[in-house]
Amino acid sequence: MYCKNCGKEIDDRAAICPHCGVPVQTASQQPSTPGLCIAGFVLAILSVWFGVLVCIPPVLAIVLSSRGIRKAKENGSRSNLGTAGLVIGIITTVFWGIMYLMLIITAIASP
Ligand SMILES: [Zn+2]
Repeated sequence: MYCKNCGKEIDDRAAICPHCGVPVQTASQQPSTPGLCIAGFVLAILSVWFGVLVCIPPVLAIVLSSRGIRKAKENGSRSNLGTAGLVIGIITTVFWGIMYLMLIITAIASP
């Protein structure tokens, strides 16, 4: 690749340009948050509100978030959103799981 500052050819893995000393910004140095992390987080938030209707989204949020975290670790990028999505997804799943259990128990117990 070429330095953006001086235009000279430099090593792909170089952190700074050996010619001018300007930090080189490569794709691996400034990785973006994987889309799966964002998807998992959004789904986790949605599932907090719609978990009462369908119990699949919180589970999906956990799956997407954990995949996003794995991908973020491979790329060396940040997985904060994925972690948040994972935690929210688990809490939501447990919460709605208990709510469903209570509903079922109530339905069975009532004459
Ligand atoms: Zn340079």
